[in-house]
Amino acid sequence: MTARMKVLHVGAEVFPLVKTGGLADVLGALPQALIGQGADVRLLLPGLPAIADAVLHQRNVCQIGPCFGAARVTLRLGQMPYSQVPVYVIDAPLLYRRPGSPYQASDGSEWPDNVQRFALLGWVGAQLAAGALDPAWQPEVLHAHDWHAAMACAYVAAHPPANVATVFTVHNLAYQGLFPSGDFSLLGLSSRFMASTGLEYHQQLSFMKAGLKFADRITTVSPTYAREIATHEFGFGLDGVIRGRGGDVSGVLNGVDGAVWDPSNDAGIATRYSAAELGGKLRCKAALQAELGLTVRADAPLFGVVSRLTSQKGLDLVLGALPALLKRGGQLALQGAGDPALEVAFVAAAKANPGEVAVRIGYDEAFAHRLIAGSDAILVPSRFEPCGLTQLYGLRYGTVPVVRRVGGLADTVIDAGDDALASERATGFAFDAATAAALEGAMQRAIAAYAQPARWHRLMLRGMAQDFSWGGAAWQYVALYAELVGLRGSRPA
Ligand code: ADP
Repeated sequence: MTARMKVLHVGAEVFPLVKTGGLADVLGALPQALIGQGADVRLLLPGLPAIADAVLHQRNVCQIGPCFGAARVTLRLGQMPYSQVPVYVIDAPLLYRRPGSPYQASDGSEWPDNVQRFALLGWVGAQLAAGALDPAWQPEVLHAHDWHAAMACAYVAAHPPANVATVFTVHNLAYQGLFPSGDFSLLGLSSRFMASTGLEYHQQLSFMKAGLKFADRITTVSPTYAREIATHEFGFGLDGVIRGRGGDVSGVLNGVDGAVWDPSNDAGIATRYSAAELGGKLRCKAALQAELGLTVRADAPLFGVVSRLTSQKGLDLVLGALPALLKRGGQLALQGAGDPALEVAFVAAAKANPGEVAVRIGYDEAFAHRLIAGSDAILVPSRFEPCGLTQLYGLRYGTVPVVRRVGGLADTVIDAGDDALASERATGFAFDAATAAALEGAMQRAIAAYAQPARWHRLMLRGMAQDFSWGGAAWQYVALYAELVGLRGSRPA
């Protein structure tokens, strides 16, 4: 790596300030890990209230003036609280200073001006890459995350600065940033960009395609998902575009932020514990059962879920497998929010099975720690899963994952097989078909293993010994950046 390679990460959410899913966890942890590898990393974020109000030591870098419908846009530079990662914040009150989700109004509809809100994010990224906004710092690599930041790749392609490479990471191909084609006129790009070779997607405007078409390299958050998105089944209509990029697409598995997720150093759980001292986990289980009104039984296999409630996550399969779980003396604890029909169905299941099923609707970071620490197993039956983080948290917390064998779940959980003597490498249970019966089969195998304490104990310890720290992922990104910067450097002027 060249000394202090400069990398700008552009994204819409960051833990712990704004989080709707795993993207925030990545943007909260990866920059620090890259800095740990010697890179000079900065973040670029929209000035959502929770970001604009929390970033430390802000100073104005540039007055941008009116653009994308905002009367006043100012670029500020400050530091992330906790990590001290330098962060540019786009202060555009008209576009960003509003309560609630970064993407949706309180009624669940997309913010009507999302095309401008996220075009601005990409445009500012490209301007920073061009050296037009901050004369003191110009990145060599612009790394954009998901559709919210993807337009940065198109704006860079429109006026390519010398010696800047772009990387686009797909965290979830299902969310594509589609807008009416008429909105293209708001972007300030020449009409050649509104073609099937550019942002046009079935007579609509696709921000996701800006990343897929114009980034120098594309990554996704696991090797298996990188292969899957090139197929019709997982490509959400963009598999042809992905196949067209051939070897430019690769997968880098996400890590776990060990400063946030570590049972031996987690102040929020009932009792801290480690692989060497597992007694605390039993106390966490009893505390969770008590907190949720579940029957406090050490011998009941307690399955946990922490998830967005969407069809992606396959939680309807959990509802289907629930009777069999209860018949075998198991318990279910779920924390989630999302699809109203799923919320209603889980609340009804809890009502029908007091003491054995507990459901908390809503988003609660602190409770997610208590739930994962206190459960025996964590269920992740996703229909598709770019990486998945909760199974990784489960592994760290000795909470054995039961997962569908897709995407990052397939890359991170080693199935225990049917027989008790199965592979000494096993860390959990995996199933193939997206059916309640297949999930039920995996849960039954988990319950059978749970009934053999020595076997279960070995599964827990093997999971806890896995290394999913960010260092390995950061090293792979640094190697990718170095390759791109090297290619740029060798290009004739
Ligand atoms: P996705 O990004 O598709 O939602 P991931 O597994 O990659 O799925 O990341 C989800 C992140 O959001 C994890 O950190 C998980 O703990 C967290 N999370 C999801 N739902 C909730 C919830 N209801 N309460 C607290 N944390 C949640």
